[in-house]
Amino acid sequence: MSKPLDPAAKKQLVARVNYYREMGIHDFYRQPVPENAVSGLQADDVVAAGRGATLFDSPLPVIQDKSAALQAIRADIGDCTRCRLHKGRKHIVFGVGNVNADLMFVGEGPGADEDEQGEPFVGRAGQLLNNMIAAMGLKRSDVYIANVVKCRPPQNRTPEKDECDTCSPFLMRQIEVIRPKVIVALGAVAAKNLLAMNDSMASLRGRWYDFCGVPGKPGFGSPGWKGARLAVTYHPAFLLRDPRQKKEAWKDLQMVMKYLGLKAKAGDPSGQ
Ligand code: URA
Repeated sequence: MSKPLDPAAKKQLVARVNYYREMGIHDFYRQPVPENAVSGLQADDVVAAGRGATLFDSPLPVIQDKSAALQAIRADIGDCTRCRLHKGRKHIVFGVGNVNADLMFVGEGPGADEDEQGEPFVGRAGQLLNNMIAAMGLKRSDVYIANVVKCRPPQNRTPEKDECDTCSPFLMRQIEVIRPKVIVALGAVAAKNLLAMNDSMASLRGRWYDFCGVPGKPGFGSPGWKGARLAVTYHPAFLLRDPRQKKEAWKDLQMVMKYLGLKAKAGDPSGQ
Protein backbone atom coordinates (compact mmCIF):
# COMPACT_ATOMS: atom_id res chain seq x y z
CA MET A 1 0.00 0.00 0.00
CA SER A 2 1.33 3.44 -0.86
CA LYS A 3 1.58 6.06 1.87
CA PRO A 4 -0.47 9.23 1.31
CA LEU A 5 1.46 12.35 0.31
CA ASP A 6 1.60 15.33 2.60
CA PRO A 7 -0.92 18.00 1.54
CA ALA A 8 1.71 20.47 0.22
CA ALA A 9 3.35 17.87 -2.06
CA LYS A 10 -0.06 16.69 -3.19
CA LYS A 11 -1.08 20.24 -4.05
CA GLN A 12 2.11 20.67 -6.08
CA LEU A 13 1.44 17.50 -8.03
CA VAL A 14 -2.16 18.50 -8.71
CA ALA A 15 -0.94 21.92 -9.92
CA ARG A 16 1.58 20.29 -12.22
CA VAL A 17 -0.91 17.84 -13.74
CA ASN A 18 -3.36 20.69 -14.22
CA TYR A 19 -0.66 22.78 -15.81
CA TYR A 20 0.20 20.08 -18.33
CA ARG A 21 -3.50 19.63 -19.12
CA GLU A 22 -3.78 23.32 -19.90
CA MET A 23 -0.83 22.85 -22.24
CA GLY A 24 -2.83 20.14 -24.02
CA ILE A 25 -0.64 17.34 -22.64
CA HIS A 26 -2.77 14.43 -21.54
CA ASP A 27 -0.41 11.47 -21.75
CA PHE A 28 1.83 10.79 -18.77
CA TYR A 29 4.36 8.05 -18.43
CA ARG A 30 5.04 6.28 -15.18
CA GLN A 31 8.39 4.99 -14.19
CA PRO A 32 8.71 1.90 -12.02
CA VAL A 33 8.73 3.07 -8.42
CA PRO A 34 10.72 1.30 -5.70
CA GLU A 35 8.66 -0.60 -3.13
CA ASN A 36 9.28 1.86 -0.31
CA ALA A 37 8.83 5.05 -2.36
CA VAL A 38 6.42 7.66 -1.04
CA SER A 39 3.46 8.02 -3.32
CA GLY A 40 -0.10 9.15 -2.92
CA LEU A 41 -1.52 11.13 -5.83
CA GLN A 42 -4.89 9.52 -6.30
CA ALA A 43 -7.01 9.41 -9.44
CA ASP A 44 -9.43 11.77 -7.64
CA ASP A 45 -6.69 14.37 -7.33
CA VAL A 46 -6.09 14.31 -11.06
CA VAL A 47 -9.81 14.71 -11.64
CA ALA A 48 -9.85 17.59 -9.14
CA ALA A 49 -7.01 19.21 -11.06
CA GLY A 50 -9.06 18.91 -14.22
CA ARG A 51 -11.93 20.67 -12.41
CA GLY A 52 -9.75 23.64 -11.71
CA ALA A 53 -7.49 23.31 -8.68
CA THR A 54 -5.62 26.58 -8.94
CA LEU A 55 -2.57 26.45 -11.14
CA PHE A 56 0.65 27.86 -9.71
CA ASP A 57 -0.78 27.96 -6.21
CA SER A 58 2.37 26.32 -5.04
CA PRO A 59 5.68 27.10 -6.74
CA LEU A 60 7.38 24.24 -8.53
CA PRO A 61 11.06 23.75 -7.76
CA VAL A 62 13.53 26.17 -9.34
CA ILE A 63 15.75 24.24 -11.71
CA GLN A 64 19.27 24.48 -10.31
CA ASP A 65 21.17 22.26 -12.67
CA LYS A 66 19.81 22.40 -16.19
CA SER A 67 22.17 19.77 -17.59
CA ALA A 68 21.10 17.32 -14.90
CA ALA A 69 17.44 18.17 -15.52
CA LEU A 70 17.89 17.49 -19.24
CA GLN A 71 19.68 14.24 -18.48
CA ALA A 72 16.72 13.23 -16.34
CA ILE A 73 14.36 13.87 -19.26
CA ARG A 74 16.63 11.84 -21.54
CA ALA A 75 16.62 9.06 -18.96
CA ASP A 76 12.81 9.16 -18.89
CA ILE A 77 12.77 8.69 -22.66
CA GLY A 78 15.00 5.66 -22.15
CA ASP A 79 15.18 3.14 -24.99
CA CYS A 80 11.77 4.35 -26.08
CA THR A 81 9.19 2.09 -27.74
CA ARG A 82 6.19 4.33 -27.03
CA CYS A 83 5.33 4.79 -30.71
CA ARG A 84 5.99 3.04 -34.01
CA LEU A 85 8.86 5.37 -34.92
CA HIS A 86 11.20 3.40 -32.67
CA LYS A 87 11.16 0.50 -35.13
CA GLY A 88 13.33 2.17 -37.78
CA ARG A 89 15.59 4.36 -35.71
CA LYS A 90 19.31 4.05 -35.08
CA HIS A 91 19.52 6.83 -32.50
CA ILE A 92 17.11 8.82 -30.40
CA VAL A 93 17.85 12.44 -31.29
CA PHE A 94 17.28 14.31 -28.06
CA GLY A 95 18.58 17.86 -28.50
CA VAL A 96 21.80 19.81 -28.49
CA GLY A 97 23.19 23.18 -27.52
CA ASN A 98 23.51 25.72 -24.78
CA VAL A 99 21.36 24.86 -21.78
CA ASN A 100 21.23 28.58 -20.92
CA ALA A 101 20.29 29.66 -24.43
CA ASP A 102 18.01 32.64 -24.95
CA LEU A 103 17.05 31.20 -28.31
CA MET A 104 15.73 27.73 -29.01
CA PHE A 105 14.95 26.25 -32.43
CA VAL A 106 12.41 23.47 -32.73
CA GLY A 107 12.26 21.32 -35.85
CA GLU A 108 10.05 18.45 -36.91
CA GLY A 109 12.04 15.26 -36.47
CA PRO A 110 15.38 13.70 -37.35
CA GLY A 111 16.30 12.81 -40.92
CA ALA A 112 18.80 10.18 -42.07
CA ASP A 113 21.94 12.12 -41.05
CA GLU A 114 20.50 13.01 -37.66
CA ASP A 115 19.42 9.41 -37.08
CA GLU A 116 22.94 8.28 -37.96
CA GLN A 117 24.70 10.80 -35.71
CA GLY A 118 22.17 11.23 -32.90
CA GLU A 119 22.20 15.02 -33.22
CA PRO A 120 19.52 17.34 -34.64
CA PHE A 121 20.05 19.33 -37.82
CA VAL A 122 23.39 17.94 -39.00
CA GLY A 123 22.41 17.22 -42.64
CA ARG A 124 21.80 19.66 -45.49
CA ALA A 125 18.92 21.37 -43.70
CA GLY A 126 21.20 21.61 -40.68
CA GLN A 127 23.86 23.37 -42.76
CA LEU A 128 21.30 25.95 -43.76
CA LEU A 129 20.12 26.29 -40.16
CA ASN A 130 23.75 26.88 -39.15
CA ASN A 131 23.97 29.63 -41.80
CA MET A 132 20.76 31.18 -40.49
CA ILE A 133 22.14 31.12 -36.95
CA ALA A 134 25.43 32.65 -38.11
CA ALA A 135 23.55 35.35 -40.04
CA MET A 136 21.90 36.28 -36.74
CA GLY A 137 25.36 36.89 -35.29
CA LEU A 138 25.28 33.70 -33.22
CA LYS A 139 27.07 30.37 -33.13
CA ARG A 140 25.29 27.03 -33.16
CA SER A 141 26.66 26.46 -29.68
CA ASP A 142 24.86 29.62 -28.44
CA VAL A 143 21.38 28.20 -29.11
CA TYR A 144 19.50 25.05 -28.18
CA ILE A 145 18.06 22.84 -30.92
CA ALA A 146 15.46 20.08 -30.56
CA ASN A 147 12.67 18.42 -32.50
CA VAL A 148 9.02 17.54 -31.92
CA VAL A 149 9.69 13.82 -32.46
CA LYS A 150 12.98 12.24 -31.40
CA CYS A 151 13.04 9.30 -33.82
CA ARG A 152 13.32 9.45 -37.59
CA PRO A 153 10.03 8.85 -39.42
CA PRO A 154 10.41 6.28 -42.23
CA GLN A 155 11.43 7.86 -45.55
CA ASN A 156 11.42 11.20 -43.73
CA ARG A 157 7.63 11.34 -43.88
CA THR A 158 5.84 13.91 -41.74
CA PRO A 159 5.33 12.57 -38.21
CA GLU A 160 1.73 11.60 -37.53
CA LYS A 161 -0.39 13.23 -34.87
CA ASP A 162 -0.24 10.33 -32.41
CA GLU A 163 3.57 10.21 -32.80
CA CYS A 164 3.81 13.94 -32.08
CA ASP A 165 1.41 13.64 -29.16
CA THR A 166 3.45 10.80 -27.69
CA CYS A 167 6.80 12.55 -28.02
CA SER A 168 6.01 16.25 -27.54
CA PRO A 169 5.68 16.06 -23.72
CA PHE A 170 9.44 15.51 -23.70
CA LEU A 171 9.97 18.60 -25.85
CA MET A 172 7.75 20.60 -23.49
CA ARG A 173 9.91 19.46 -20.60
CA GLN A 174 13.08 20.43 -22.48
CA ILE A 175 11.63 23.90 -23.03
CA GLU A 176 10.67 24.11 -19.38
CA VAL A 177 14.29 23.40 -18.42
CA ILE A 178 15.97 25.64 -21.02
CA ARG A 179 13.51 28.50 -20.46
CA PRO A 180 14.55 30.37 -23.60
CA LYS A 181 13.45 33.94 -24.19
CA VAL A 182 12.47 33.03 -27.75
CA ILE A 183 11.44 29.80 -29.44
CA VAL A 184 11.60 29.64 -33.23
CA ALA A 185 9.32 26.96 -34.63
CA LEU A 186 10.82 25.67 -37.86
CA GLY A 187 7.98 24.66 -40.16
CA ALA A 188 4.39 23.65 -39.76
CA VAL A 189 4.84 20.54 -37.62
CA ALA A 190 6.75 22.44 -34.94
CA ALA A 191 4.40 25.43 -35.13
CA LYS A 192 1.24 23.35 -34.92
CA ASN A 193 2.51 21.24 -32.03
CA LEU A 194 3.82 24.17 -30.02
CA LEU A 195 0.86 26.45 -30.65
CA ALA A 196 -1.93 23.89 -31.00
CA MET A 197 -3.05 25.81 -34.10
CA ASN A 198 -3.76 24.33 -37.48
CA ASP A 199 -3.32 27.38 -39.72
CA SER A 200 -1.20 27.55 -42.86
CA MET A 201 2.47 28.50 -42.60
CA ALA A 202 1.76 31.72 -44.48
CA SER A 203 -0.66 32.84 -41.80
CA LEU A 204 1.32 31.47 -38.83
CA ARG A 205 4.61 33.21 -39.59
CA GLY A 206 5.50 36.90 -39.40
CA ARG A 207 4.16 37.60 -35.91
CA TRP A 208 4.80 36.86 -32.24
CA TYR A 209 3.02 34.36 -30.03
CA ASP A 210 3.18 33.95 -26.28
CA PHE A 211 4.29 30.46 -25.46
CA CYS A 212 2.87 29.01 -22.24
CA GLY A 213 1.72 32.46 -21.32
CA VAL A 214 -1.25 32.14 -19.02
CA PRO A 215 -2.33 35.80 -18.61
CA GLY A 216 -1.08 37.14 -15.32
CA LYS A 217 0.75 33.91 -14.50
CA PRO A 218 4.38 32.99 -14.88
CA GLY A 219 5.18 30.48 -17.60
CA PHE A 220 5.36 26.80 -16.93
CA GLY A 221 4.84 27.21 -13.22
CA SER A 222 8.55 27.85 -12.82
CA PRO A 223 9.32 30.73 -10.49
CA GLY A 224 11.20 33.52 -12.22
CA TRP A 225 10.29 32.45 -15.75
CA LYS A 226 7.59 34.33 -17.60
CA GLY A 227 7.35 31.97 -20.55
CA ALA A 228 8.79 32.54 -24.00
CA ARG A 229 7.92 34.46 -27.11
CA LEU A 230 7.46 32.22 -30.09
CA ALA A 231 8.01 32.98 -33.77
CA VAL A 232 7.27 30.68 -36.68
CA THR A 233 9.41 30.49 -39.79
CA TYR A 234 9.95 28.20 -42.72
CA HIS A 235 11.73 24.91 -42.19
CA PRO A 236 15.27 24.95 -43.66
CA ALA A 237 14.43 21.84 -45.74
CA PHE A 238 11.58 23.80 -47.31
CA LEU A 239 13.94 26.73 -47.96
CA LEU A 240 16.32 24.36 -49.76
CA ARG A 241 13.45 23.39 -52.04
CA ASP A 242 12.19 26.95 -52.49
CA PRO A 243 15.08 29.40 -51.93
CA ARG A 244 12.87 32.35 -52.94
CA GLN A 245 11.28 32.09 -49.48
CA LYS A 246 14.61 32.80 -47.76
CA LYS A 247 13.81 36.50 -47.84
CA GLU A 248 10.64 35.86 -45.84
CA ALA A 249 12.48 33.61 -43.37
CA TRP A 250 15.10 36.33 -42.93
CA LYS A 251 12.34 38.79 -42.01
CA ASP A 252 11.17 36.37 -39.31
CA LEU A 253 14.71 36.02 -37.97
CA GLN A 254 15.19 39.80 -37.99
CA MET A 255 12.08 40.13 -35.83
CA VAL A 256 13.69 37.69 -33.37
CA MET A 257 17.04 39.50 -33.51
CA LYS A 258 15.42 42.84 -32.77
CA TYR A 259 13.76 41.39 -29.69
CA LEU A 260 16.96 39.73 -28.48
CA GLY A 261 19.12 42.76 -29.33
CA LEU A 262 21.23 40.82 -31.84
CA LYS A 263 23.19 42.44 -34.67
CA ALA A 264 23.20 40.80 -38.11
CA LYS A 265 26.39 39.64 -39.74
CA ALA A 266 27.42 41.99 -42.57
CA GLY A 267 25.71 41.43 -45.94
CA ASP A 268 22.24 40.23 -46.86
CA PRO A 269 22.06 36.54 -45.89
CA SER A 270 18.59 36.07 -47.39
CA GLY A 271 20.16 35.73 -50.83
CA GLN A 272 22.54 32.90 -49.83
N1 URA B 1 14.73 18.29 -39.99
C1 URA B 1 14.23 18.45 -38.75
O1 URA B 1 13.09 18.89 -38.58
N2 URA B 1 15.00 18.15 -37.73
C2 URA B 1 16.23 17.70 -37.85
O2 URA B 1 16.88 17.43 -36.84
C3 URA B 1 16.75 17.55 -39.15
C4 URA B 1 15.99 17.85 -40.20
